[in-house]
Amino acid sequence: MNQHAPVSSIAFIDLEAQRRRLGRAIDEAVGRVLTHCQFINGPEVGELEAELAAFCGAKHVVSCASGTDALLMVLMAKNIGPGDAVICPSFTFCATAEVVALAGATPVFVDVDEATFNIDLASLKRGMTAARAAGLKLKAIIPVDLFGQSADHDGIAEIAKAEGLFVLDDAAQSFGATDKGRRLGTLADATTTSFFPAKPLGCYGDGGAIFTDDDELAHTLRSIRVHGQGSDKYDNVRLGLTARLDTVQAAVLREKLKIFDDEIAARDLVAKRYAQALGNIVDVPHVVAGNTSTWAQYTVRVPGGHRDALAAALKARGVPTAIYYPKPLHQQTAYRHFPAAAGGLPVSERLSGEVISLPMHPYLDDATQSRIIAAVGDAMAEIA
Ligand SMILES: *Cc1c(COP(=O)(O)O)cnc(C)c1O
Repeated sequence: MNQHAPVSSIAFIDLEAQRRRLGRAIDEAVGRVLTHCQFINGPEVGELEAELAAFCGAKHVVSCASGTDALLMVLMAKNIGPGDAVICPSFTFCATAEVVALAGATPVFVDVDEATFNIDLASLKRGMTAARAAGLKLKAIIPVDLFGQSADHDGIAEIAKAEGLFVLDDAAQSFGATDKGRRLGTLADATTTSFFPAKPLGCYGDGGAIFTDDDELAHTLRSIRVHGQGSDKYDNVRLGLTARLDTVQAAVLREKLKIFDDEIAARDLVAKRYAQALGNIVDVPHVVAGNTSTWAQYTVRVPGGHRDALAAALKARGVPTAIYYPKPLHQQTAYRHFPAAAGGLPVSERLSGEVISLPMHPYLDDATQSRIIAAVGDAMAEIA
């Protein structure tokens, strides 16, 4: 063995380990699609939708081409457009607000909670005031269940109900998570998720889904998914998209869904080991009592301006990390001209400078995790 070869490299997300577990079942499922050749709207698409509905308890599931399309389709179905405001957290992936602007409406940014990284209800109320002060018609809220943990959906629903607002839950990172025993997919007027490969339930390309109990909304979404079709594809009753989920991806997802609960439990064990070993060294994530997380990311905070030094020190020790997110949306070039809650968004700004995500996936074994934990300990001792 080459004495300069590094010890086996650590994966940030190990899709190959899952492939070793499921490879044959997935190859066979994809093989069946290659045999029947119904690449669009094959039987696996409807079967997956029924299985996802049973998994989370939603009445309707409309699969689609990505988590971004899922969000956009709901805004289109609700006729949200120019002159309308939609409240979004600033500390999220850009797609949450991007779809609002693409629909022609105005995203209004609000701050997040220090402990959960999810929408802060006091800031949400200030954002509503800012939207109205800007002369906009406030229509909806898009809470995000960041890094795998549910937002405070009861608190959000109470405010939305009093104000007549639509709630679109962006569960791109958190499908499978629970809030007081209820699975995401049922806690808002509509919920969306993403099947991007790195998400907790990922396919082998792009994919997404929308969950709702609203019959009329589900009907409209199925039309928007295929160019706004009416009684058939050549009857166009509204504007739509080409936003279907490929049959091959549905076949992959059906196999992955069978082991999804088991993978969430494995991620939770990894998270518990991290919390126990690192709780005194960095700020470890806080899961609210009664919530379970899908641990899309294991994101810790390093105060005191040491975050970038930790990232560099871990890289030198062969431990990959990622920063989600280095800049809040209200400070991004594409979004900084949109309104934000009065008083600023100090938590989003602080988090962007302090967060760092460690390797997290269901196949992170004890020995590898011990290496990561030791590296964080050594690096922090060196830095601080
Ligand atoms: C990944 C993600 C999306 C977009 O999903 P795609 O499938 O990549 O389009 C939207 N919102 C959040 C919070 C995400 O993490």
